[in-house]
Amino acid sequence: MNNIKHIFFDLDHTLWDFEKNSQEALFEIYTELNLNKYTPSFDRFIKKYREINQRYWNLYRQNKVTKEQVRKGRFVDTVAFFKISEKETLAEILSHKYITLSPTKTNLFPGTHQTLKKLSKKYPLHIITNGFTEVQHTKLEKSNLQSYFKTVVCSEETNFKKPHKNVFNFALNKANALAKHSLMVGDSLEADVLGAKKIGMKSIWFNPNKNTNLKNVLQIHLLNELSTILPL
Ligand SMILES: [Mg+2]
Repeated sequence: MNNIKHIFFDLDHTLWDFEKNSQEALFEIYTELNLNKYTPSFDRFIKKYREINQRYWNLYRQNKVTKEQVRKGRFVDTVAFFKISEKETLAEILSHKYITLSPTKTNLFPGTHQTLKKLSKKYPLHIITNGFTEVQHTKLEKSNLQSYFKTVVCSEETNFKKPHKNVFNFALNKANALAKHSLMVGDSLEADVLGAKKIGMKSIWFNPNKNTNLKNVLQIHLLNELSTILPL
């Protein structure tokens, strides 16, 4: 890691604690709309929602559904599962409230600020995210992360998604960085780690849940491990 000059981070599930933030937002909306009238419990609701959301995101990554279909479809299907009437209207309301509320949540992974503060003194830092442009900027702003990053690339602006090489090349160009001098840090093995590797960037897998034991992948379980791996 001695010749690293630029560090690129993924945002969701890497710095911004997506699960926690999403759960907080959904809980507030669930309570506000009295969804307990229609569902056995919040836990059952969110479990079903996550399953459906995951399915939509997988389809979105494969370009089989549009962003709008993800945003609305995940709620239409969740509401339909619980056999709630007026499902179109309710799904519309849920979708709007969720998109507005969730990016304002500010739970980050432990050590985010501390690590970024240290690293940003020595390296230009950047973001490459597959999340939707309008919400990703809100997340960065509300969580006070914006000032650490020199450039932010939301893959939408490239018309491709990570792990496609065009996204990484676009981000390298924007950052004025060379692949061989750049490091990608992210939670997705496929989108972040392998995507970056393919175009000659170094990569580190952020694996907070210690998911699988891959010996040939450089990984960290906590963000602050970066400051020991990288020369400061
Ligand atoms: Mg991620």
